[in-house]
Amino acid sequence: MSVPASPTDLQAVIGLEVHLHLNTRTKIFSAASTDYFGQEPNTFTDPLTLGLPGTLPTLNARAVDLAIMFGLALGCDVSGFTQFHRKNYFYPDAPKNFQLSQYDRPIARNGAVMVDGERIGITRAHLEDDAGKLMHPLYAPYSLLDLNRAGMPLIEMVTEPELRSPEQARKFLTLIRAVAQSLGVSEANPEEGQMRCDVNVSVHRPGTPFGTKVEVKNLNSFRSVQRALEYEIARQTRVLQAGGTITQDTMGWDDGGGRTFVMRTKEGEADYRYFPEPDLPPLDITPEWIERVRAQMPELPDRKRERYVAAGLREADADAISVDVPQSRFLDAALRHDPKLHVQKLANWLLTDVAGWLAAREQSLTASHLTPEHLASLVGLVEAGGISGKMAKDLLPEVMEGADPAALVQERGLSVVTDTAAIEAAVDAAMAANPAAVEQVRAGNLKAANALFGPVMKAMNGQAGPDVVRQVLNARLGL
Ligand code: ADP
Ligand code: MG
Repeated sequence: MSVPASPTDLQAVIGLEVHLHLNTRTKIFSAASTDYFGQEPNTFTDPLTLGLPGTLPTLNARAVDLAIMFGLALGCDVSGFTQFHRKNYFYPDAPKNFQLSQYDRPIARNGAVMVDGERIGITRAHLEDDAGKLMHPLYAPYSLLDLNRAGMPLIEMVTEPELRSPEQARKFLTLIRAVAQSLGVSEANPEEGQMRCDVNVSVHRPGTPFGTKVEVKNLNSFRSVQRALEYEIARQTRVLQAGGTITQDTMGWDDGGGRTFVMRTKEGEADYRYFPEPDLPPLDITPEWIERVRAQMPELPDRKRERYVAAGLREADADAISVDVPQSRFLDAALRHDPKLHVQKLANWLLTDVAGWLAAREQSLTASHLTPEHLASLVGLVEAGGISGKMAKDLLPEVMEGADPAALVQERGLSVVTDTAAIEAAVDAAMAANPAAVEQVRAGNLKAANALFGPVMKAMNGQAGPDVVRQVLNARLGL
């Protein structure tokens, strides 16, 4: 490759491989439970998971349903025969000495999703079993092996090399997580290892063939995906600028040090000696099967976004909430409690006050004690003029801890003052204090009434409903 004139004429090319743990009760080829997170090592195993001789796999039908659903959501072709292959390798985390994966007949093929208005092709998605986990205690002369994860059902999806920036890669992953969570296909929580990502990245000058790629493996947060990509793009650009060449390496990511490192040079497919799994029959995914799964598909993020916008939510808020499944579930549940509430009012609370409170405490919406019912009730009280916005904000910390806002309001006798006598007195005082404004209003400058409105609200200590104040003021001014 010739040396480019400046870094700016080099363009990144990115393809992702995403692994998702499927949301099944049992493992993909045996009846061992999948519920091992946080449990004792090696207690969620069985003879098949341990790779004992004579054990035979049985395919988990639920895993197949979920893979079909995920494939459909990604616009893939999922019809026809699919089959498992053995991918042979010898490593302590895989006691069978092979992975059961899919090779030339993956369950889903040729899909696409839209990211920021650009089409990103999905090459394929296939089913496979996960390996166990090796741990290397610092300074210990041994390694530890936990096979709880071995045999977990995985779906691996591979994209075309069509992503162009670390930012776009991150948006893609956010969308995929939202799709998987909306469908219930996967919890897709990177922190719990349910969503892992390998990134492939190269740089080239547009209009010329793609450059040599490197693969950075096992990234377990969206943030490390973005950082690893930024680092690699800068590194490759520097190497090419200095007249060097990129070697096709498999790399790891050192999150603390903020850099990639070479793990091994790429193995070829031939090294895995793929062959069809003799203990599992091929699977014929019939049109009836597909339609049965399609009929159970919940609403996808795109559809959700359209629904919110149609209900009057700002586009930017609809974008954010529709790819945040806990948030959109919460919003939908609050709307079910009080369908008369405007979606924007609820979203404002969710995205600012509630989100701010949670962020300050590093809490998640799901783990918090706030219920959709309570948020709907709080917003409803403000909207109906029962309490002021300021009162609602004052109540929020307690509501976040699980208190029922309606009960708090009653207990404390909170309510905006609707006693018009008090408001009338405040209005009269404000008019007496600002005769000039009164003159102007009477002369036809209606805006001048605002100069009276503020002092009345202040005199009422934020306890008066703005609508009532407006009414009394207008009546007194003869409007
Ligand atoms: P491999 O032979 O290494 O498995 P594949 O062609 O199967 O390569 O692609 C694996 C992943 O790498 C895919 O996500 C694909 O989009 C991506 N990819 C392929 N070529 C490039 C490239 N030149 N630059 C960046 N990513 C690439
Ligand atoms: Mg490949």
